[in-house]
Parts: sequence; C-alpha cells; structure tokens
Amino acid sequence: MDTGLKGKKAIVCAASKGLGKACAMALAREGVDLVITARTADTLAHAAEEINKATGVTVVAVPGDIATEAGRAAALAACPTPDILVNNAGGPPPGDFRNWEREDWIRALDANMLAPIFLIRAVVDGMCGRGFGRIVNITSGSVKSPIPTLGMSNGARAGLTGFVAGLARQVARHNVTINNLLPGPFLTDRLRSNMAAQAAKEGRPVEEAIAARGKANPTGRVGDPEEFGAACAFLCSAHSGFIVGQNLLLDGGAFNSSMG
Ligand code: NAP
Repeated sequence: MDTGLKGKKAIVCAASKGLGKACAMALAREGVDLVITARTADTLAHAAEEINKATGVTVVAVPGDIATEAGRAAALAACPTPDILVNNAGGPPPGDFRNWEREDWIRALDANMLAPIFLIRAVVDGMCGRGFGRIVNITSGSVKSPIPTLGMSNGARAGLTGFVAGLARQVARHNVTINNLLPGPFLTDRLRSNMAAQAAKEGRPVEEAIAARGKANPTGRVGDPEEFGAACAFLCSAHSGFIVGQNLLLDGGAFNSSMG
C-alpha cells in the first residue's frame, strides 16, 4: 500500500526510545521527514542517526522536555508547519492517590494532557488551512480499562481523550484527523523496568516475568513496538481521512469485551 506520505513532515514527541521511536521509524520508512524529541540529548541523537541511516529521510533531533513551554517551542521552531504530529511523553509514576499532592497531579497533567493540547493548538489551524493533517496521541489501554495503581495516568489521559473527542469532529472536514493509540503491554524500556520491580518481588528473572505476562495475553506474547509504529503510520496515511476521533486499543485482545 502506498501510504501517500512521501515528502510529508512530522513532529514525533518522546521518540528516542520505545513506542515514540517506533512511530518515528515507521513514518520514516514511508518517506516522512522528521523532527524527534526527548530529554536526553545523546540517546536522541543516536536514534536520529539510526532512523536516518535506515531510511534516508531527514531527521532533526530536538532535545527538550515536551511537558514544558520551552520544549514545545523548540520542536515547533524546528518544524513550524508539520503535516503530522505524534504526541507522546513518559507516563506518570504508579502509587496510591492518598500520597499524591497537587504538584504531582500538575506534573501528570502537564505531560499527558496539556502538552498534547498545546501542541495541537499550535499546529491544527495550519493543517486545516493546508487541507491535510494527521494527529496521533499515544495514550494507554488504561483509558479503557483503568489500572488501579496508575491513577494519575488514568485521570490525565482520560482528560486528553475527552478533549480530543470534541476537537476531532470540528477539524475533520478539513482532512485533519485526530486519533488516539492505546498501547497494552509492548516490549519497551518502560515495560522492562516496570516488570523488573515485579520480578524482583517475585524473586525471578525479569525475562521470565515478561514471558509469563505474554503467556497470559490472548496472543501468547507481549507486543512488538514495530507493530505499534505500523498502526501509527496507517493512521497518518492518506487513506485514513474517515477515521476520526477513535481510540484504537493495541493490546493483543487483553481487554475482554464483545465490542471495542
Ligand atoms: P519508554 O520506552 O520509556 O520511552 C519513553 C520515551 O519518551 C523516551 O524516548 C524518553 O526519553 C521520552 N520522554 C519521556 N518523557 C519525556 C518528556 N517529558 N519530554 C520528552 N521526551 C520524553 O516508554 P514507552 O514504553 O515507549 O511508553 C511511551 C508512552 O506509552 C508512555 O506514556 C507510557 O506510559 C505509555 N504506555 C506504554 C505501554 C508499554 O507497554 N510500553 C503501555 C501503556 C502505556 P527521555 O527519557 O530521554 O526524555
């Protein structure tokens, strides 16, 4: 399938590792020139080089914290008129809501709700004017099926989801789509470090704990970030203009439901 993306420009946030990087790589394979961000400059530079070497597209690395005004301004300065925006940031820590203060909640809202909203605000009208735009927000399966220990993630991401549901319907007539990708367990550094804590408690190697998590999934495995990137590239393609305001769960069928 020709995705029709050759020569387009994308900002992919939080893309030096994991799901963000997989989205960046999948878009690059379709010929999209990239601006990628992350806080750690050397890891980001390494990812940019790897994507450029693999695909030949232009990849500009813009170090910075996307949860801050300065981080977003730097990304937008490097690519003021993107055709594609992939919103992503690290997830809030787990814990008990009784221990979370206002500052903890503000950090979660800044990273997982307000950063995507402010980036969308900066680019969406330009996309509408040009008659093409694709915005994909990486959220979490916890939006559909809340994870008790991840209360800040459940709350902040649900806020973004509600906002996007309204806006997506206001911009769709301009061939600008906004959709969310909801990851279940994908084998990234984040999953590995979460599983490491659990494996240590259980007194077994982390690889064994990950294998057990995979075995419990209907597919018998955990997700490969490349599969996540491919879904993102499809949502960004020229063929997806009628997919509007959707929440696509990529969890191997772990969420048990007759529909959606
Ligand atoms: P990961 O492997 O830890 O990668 C996170 C990436 O985001 C890194 O490149 C990191 O680089 C960057 N990053 C984090 N915070 C940032 C910030 N404030 N500004 C700019 N860059 C930032 O994580 P992942 O597994 O890909 O997860 C991505 C998102 O999906 C997270 O929100 C996570 O909660 C969510 N999620 C993941 C899974 C899963 O199974 N993997 C499941 C559900 C939800 P720096 O640290 O250098 O900034």
